Amino acid sequence: MLQNIKEKLRRHIFGHRLLVFMQKIHIWLKFLKRIQSRRIQLLKQSILRKSNLPSTIQLPITYKCNFNCVMCGMHNLIGQKDFNSEELRTILKDKLYSRVTAVGINGGEPFLKTDLLDCINAIVNMLPSLKSLNIISNGFFTDKIISQLTEIKKLCKLKSIKVNLSLSVDGVKDMQDFMRGHKDAFTHVNQTIQAIQSRQNELCDSLGIICTLTRHNITRINEVEIWAESTGVNVSYNIATINRRIDNFDKFEHFSIFTDQKALFLAREFFYKLFLKTDSEKYFAIFLYLLTRKRYAPCEHLECSGVTLTPDMQLGYCATYSKNLGNAYLESSYKIFKGNKKHLRELERKFCGGCSHYIYNLSPSGLKLFRDEKIRRMIT
Ligand code: SF4
Repeated sequence: MLQNIKEKLRRHIFGHRLLVFMQKIHIWLKFLKRIQSRRIQLLKQSILRKSNLPSTIQLPITYKCNFNCVMCGMHNLIGQKDFNSEELRTILKDKLYSRVTAVGINGGEPFLKTDLLDCINAIVNMLPSLKSLNIISNGFFTDKIISQLTEIKKLCKLKSIKVNLSLSVDGVKDMQDFMRGHKDAFTHVNQTIQAIQSRQNELCDSLGIICTLTRHNITRINEVEIWAESTGVNVSYNIATINRRIDNFDKFEHFSIFTDQKALFLAREFFYKLFLKTDSEKYFAIFLYLLTRKRYAPCEHLECSGVTLTPDMQLGYCATYSKNLGNAYLESSYKIFKGNKKHLRELERKFCGGCSHYIYNLSPSGLKLFRDEKIRRMIT
């Protein structure tokens, strides 16, 4: 019906102009609403920054990994010792964690940790405000993943905590194997997806795919889109970047989209297309980043609402550029977190403007560009 009216209006010049005008008003109103709420949110965060306690823990739970991914330097750290569940329990007693609502569990490969269930037990029992566990896995060990997820889901259900699982898939068939540095990586992750889908209610509340783009897999990204559509699982796309936690500084030249002009061009085109398809702030922010190499997004770590705890019990503001602030087992996490604000300001000054991590929403200046681009598309 609406479509018919639009068509009729389009047939008349005046009607067409009126339609464009009304669409512009609509975009402006939406923009004003968004920018106002974003400003309020940022203002609140900056006021609270001093007293803020984190709502999120990024918890790489182990250094162990069976893969050797193109964009990861974790193999340099693989021999390091991980915390055990008792140590984790002691750390999480600290008041810094009293308002945590979400824990991101990644690695290494979390399902390789022998006391994973004990650690999850510690997490769900020590964090009184916890609402969700967000696990990232490479999906290789199908049987182990299914059996452990069954237990994790049971545990979390008792406390009304959601379990969200994301599997890393960066390509189809040989491209996934190449990106992940392991034969049959694709076959295994595919099997895991099918096994989870056959009884998802018992295993997790949501299942997603994370695809990380490098100069290598961008040329075959359409294969991931087609394959993912056939599985019915939603994919979230990111770009591979420098990350201190996974020690990948010396691999940058080898994996980064920025070191290959053709790859950069393709990636810009891809994220712009995603922005048009989904109207997503995240994809527009990544497109802007690829265009300008500047960040147009706030960061939860910069606002002190996120904290990182590494497998060797070191606390950091973020996993990307933050230095290790101190050992959370030997000292109070609260004191470490609050006592290093100077380093947070240094991060902000030196790195945040050029960092592409944790991009979800646009900053107010990014929102303006988002609005202008939508209007430009409408009238050209
Ligand atoms: S360096 Fe990146 S991840 Fe770290 S606080 Fe800054 S914007 Fe956030």
